Amino acid sequence: MAIFIPEEKISEIKNAADIVDVVSESVILKKAGKNYIGLCPFHSEKTPSFTVSPDKQIFHCFGCSTGGNIFSFLMKQEGLSFPAAARHLAKRYGVDIPARPLSPAQKKKISERESVLDINRRAGGFYHQALLNSAAGQKARSYLSKRGISQKTIVDFKLGYAHDGWDHLLRFFSDKRISPMLLEKSGLILPRKNKSGHYDRFRNRVIFPIFDVNMQVIGFGGRVLDDALPKYLNSPETAIYNKSRSLYGIHRAKDKCRATGTVFIVEGYLDLIALHQHGVENSVATLGTALTADHVKLLTRYARRMILVYDSDEAGIRSAQRCIETFWKEHVDFRREDVFSEDKADTHILVLPTGHDPDSYIFEHGPEAFMAAASESPGIITFLMDCAVRKHGLTTEGKIRVISELQAPLAVINDQIAQAIYIQQLAERLGIAESAVLERIRAVATRQSRAPVFAGQKGAAAGEFPKRETATSNSGLAGPPGVNAGIRFERQIIAMMLQFPEILPEINRLSVLKYFENSDLESVGNMVLKFNPTTGDQVSELISRIENEAQQTIVASLAMEDESWNKKGCLRLLAKFVDTRQKHRSGSLLEEQIKAAEKSDDHALLLTLLNKKQKMAERSEKQKMAILSEK
Ligand SMILES: [Zn+2]
Repeated sequence: MAIFIPEEKISEIKNAADIVDVVSESVILKKAGKNYIGLCPFHSEKTPSFTVSPDKQIFHCFGCSTGGNIFSFLMKQEGLSFPAAARHLAKRYGVDIPARPLSPAQKKKISERESVLDINRRAGGFYHQALLNSAAGQKARSYLSKRGISQKTIVDFKLGYAHDGWDHLLRFFSDKRISPMLLEKSGLILPRKNKSGHYDRFRNRVIFPIFDVNMQVIGFGGRVLDDALPKYLNSPETAIYNKSRSLYGIHRAKDKCRATGTVFIVEGYLDLIALHQHGVENSVATLGTALTADHVKLLTRYARRMILVYDSDEAGIRSAQRCIETFWKEHVDFRREDVFSEDKADTHILVLPTGHDPDSYIFEHGPEAFMAAASESPGIITFLMDCAVRKHGLTTEGKIRVISELQAPLAVINDQIAQAIYIQQLAERLGIAESAVLERIRAVATRQSRAPVFAGQKGAAAGEFPKRETATSNSGLAGPPGVNAGIRFERQIIAMMLQFPEILPEINRLSVLKYFENSDLESVGNMVLKFNPTTGDQVSELISRIENEAQQTIVASLAMEDESWNKKGCLRLLAKFVDTRQKHRSGSLLEEQIKAAEKSDDHALLLTLLNKKQKMAERSEKQKMAILSEK
């Protein structure tokens, strides 16, 4: 039953609950200074980098950058919604939540979701019974046994059978007094073309119910028993089913994924079922779609190493290229930089020998052979290199083709360290100078880049930062390697704002946030200014007010540390930041004009522009002095 939880009750829960208590139920925590540390439940690790702060009531993992407050922890760990997490805590800490009436719109939305879930649950039961017990289900039973699928698997995955006929499901529900209108919302029945009633979507098919992480049936897939087309049919998108967010088998895979830190991703229902039946339970299947960023986000909750399994080089290449796009290019935002930076390096492609899909391979060769092949599966970039070399050979022409095939995917990688490693690898492989490869990649990268890396930041960001004398190795402050210097600078400012609230008026006065380039960091900054926290224990409260998960993570990671800040150093940093950004903005325009004047040999114009550049430099020096002297 969904109930609205009033704001004051949320505060009451927050005051009563203790994050160390709640986390301790699933993670063994050890005291370390002011904080507690343990092995991260969200990624697989051997040395603890998962940190819980009792003072601030937040958690943060320095390994995978997951973080948040007590609510976010429960949401991630148990796969709960916010209200469900709040109710869970209310019950545990004895906070009484009175029911409050919902608005008609809220009611309608919740009731539609709940009715579709209920319909799916009952339809799943109906199909399952038909497979297990009905006479008509015999042909489906023999089809599955011919495919080697055991009775246990049928029960574990609640497989079913949809009768051959137009209205079996329709009649089942009309007996239960459920209206066709509601049923239509579940996608299980369709209106007839002449509008005289409805008919069943799934007919004479083996049924695969699709569960979410909470074991709720969100949709169905159906496979024909012969060679009829379409071979597979899926539920349409509904209030609860979205194929680019759903993964078949996740409900049975998540624990094993967490335990092994690895997930296998296949393409079909039967591939997935074959793997599970052979004990490779850390597997999921995408449902008629390529792996999306949402899938990856869901999977990173359970495993860091992803192995995509394909039946041919071509399918593998297509997928590898899409993955690079998903990981490195499409989501050029903070979340990608922060959370995915290591995951994307740990994504592998496993191509099975010709003629095999995962289903046939594991039945023929067994799980040991499958695991052995998986352990040798190359990373996505290495895989693309291998394929290109196989295809074009290592003659002079071949090498040229290999480079031109790889220059686009390599150029997309905006993690400079990763890119350099791959370039070095490719150069070695082809036996040519690294600089030659680099030049080609850079040329493509320049064409592709949408946001130029902020210039002139390196010294300020790393070396001259005022608050730390010695760098701590696992600090979340600088962010993972590969986050560009400009973003690192912005992270430092947000950390300063969170840990040293005294500086907030200065941030306001200098309009520092308006120079931010990363939109997540900018909105976190604005939230901090608006909320104006004065003590550490308000950080958890601040996280509660932020809806965006990536932004919650930013706050948790940057608030976790306690550094001693000194105001003068902070002011110097802010001045430097504002100054560089201002210069950058007006400077890049001026530079362009200067270049154009040089090109057209317009000496008079060139002189004017150079003068302007000189004045700009002097002015910004003065501004910097002014900011410092106001201290
Ligand atoms: Zn972690």
